[in-house]
Amino acid sequence: MDDCIFCRIANGEIPSDKLYEDDQLVAFRDINPQAPVHVLIVPKRHIQSVNGLKDGDAKLLGHMFETARNIATALGVSGSGYRIVVNTGENGGQTVPHLHFHLLGGRALGWPPG
Ligand code: 5GP
Ligand code: ZN
Repeated sequence: MDDCIFCRIANGEIPSDKLYEDDQLVAFRDINPQAPVHVLIVPKRHIQSVNGLKDGDAKLLGHMFETARNIATALGVSGSGYRIVVNTGENGGQTVPHLHFHLLGGRALGWPPG
């Protein structure tokens, strides 16, 4: 998707503060962090949201969770705790229509979300 900002970050057209990359996904720091640790884990394939997932995507999702766990460990928040969030659609607060996990940590996070 030429006009998708996360596709363009994933293919290197737009710079980002990348923490991890492989053939399936990329992880980079959020440009407007909501916590000391705020990382986005983004599949390279354009998937609009959770609604766009297909049956065969279970492995990709597992890999996204593993990557979030590994980054949480690398950034030192696995012990203190963190949150993985997937905003979906308008009421879910999704603003970028390309599936992504938010990894948030480094402070106590409130519940319920706004
Ligand atoms: P959403 O609102 O869709 O759940 O999350 C989108 C996130 O992407 C927001 O937290 C926003 O700050 C982040 N974001 C939007 N554009 C960019 C960008 O160009 N670079 C980076 N690193 N993050 C972005
Ligand atoms: Zn995209």
